[in-house]
Amino acid sequence: MEPRDIPEDLTEILISEEQIRTRLAELSRRIEADYAGKDLLLVGVLKGAVMVMADLARELHHPITMDWMAVSSYGSGTESSGVVRILKDLDTDLSGRNVLIVEDIIDSGLTLSWLLANLNTRGPASVEICALLRKPEAARVDIDVKYVGFEIPNKFVVGYGLDYAEKYRNLKSVGILAPHVYTPVAAQ
Ligand code: 5GP
Ligand code: MG
Ligand code: MG
Repeated sequence: MEPRDIPEDLTEILISEEQIRTRLAELSRRIEADYAGKDLLLVGVLKGAVMVMADLARELHHPITMDWMAVSSYGSGTESSGVVRILKDLDTDLSGRNVLIVEDIIDSGLTLSWLLANLNTRGPASVEICALLRKPEAARVDIDVKYVGFEIPNKFVVGYGLDYAEKYRNLKSVGILAPHVYTPVAAQ
């Protein structure tokens, strides 16, 4: 994306389309090697992981199946609530399966640690995590994320699947949302 194409709701483009493509290719080579000769079920976490799932799955030279879960933790604001609820469960029986959770971003890590514990009760052969983005806060929870795309600063980002109030998911790059978008006029 050229600078002139940056929507005015963003302060900057943090990760370009090209950087995402290159990084997903690198992660895919590692995943292919790690799962050589094994089955692999990608579990995407709706809705934010839709773009990374679509691009990662197509980049992988490995037979995969795909399933989806929807959980809620954030609502439409910018702060983690810590409350996780299953809105849509998997259709797949996980017994004996190698599961790779595909996530858009890890912030507090609350959603993922809950999801890991939940999926591990279902008898999988293995459960690993692939997250496109990780924020510094995530270091405070003890979860082993095997595949991380980019470490990013503690800013609220949108694009490439990530939303603010359901908007901006279709941006091709990841950008920092301008505070004026989510700050009430009276507080500016
Ligand atoms: P966590 O439980 O790790 O704090 O975050 C869970 C979810 O919050 C993520 O999957 C994502 O949907 C949302 N989230 C966290 N940080 C951001 C952010 O910077 N931008 C957006 N759009 N969503 C975020
Ligand atoms: Mg997510
Ligand atoms: Mg969201």
